[in-house]
Amino acid sequence: MMNKYDLVYRDDIIDAVKKNIPHAIFDDYGNYTVRGMRLLDVISDVPVAQPECKKGWWVEMGVNADKTHNIVCSKCGEGYKTKGHAKSIATRAKWKFCPSCGADMRGESDETICD
Ligand SMILES: [Zn+2]
Repeated sequence: MMNKYDLVYRDDIIDAVKKNIPHAIFDDYGNYTVRGMRLLDVISDVPVAQPECKKGWWVEMGVNADKTHNIVCSKCGEGYKTKGHAKSIATRAKWKFCPSCGADMRGESDETICD
């Protein structure tokens, strides 16, 4: 499902246009034209998206009988089970960003370190 703020690659959009719009005409200028609209020019003119810097941290919610930890994202509230305490996992590749909302989890406060 498309989200209003999805970041996508122009080349992927161009490939999708080429593949899915069979009545597009490839003109002499190397452009796909549909009803007089030069699609590659239209796509090129869309402004570059500025990714939102979302900062969050893992909140420890307790330990289970199997010694896994319940953690939640401070930003979106999505919960996960991990092997390791919330304070120690943010350096591991899988947990540097929230799998649900994409918040940057490298840190313990609202400090902004997105780059
Ligand atoms: Zn999240």
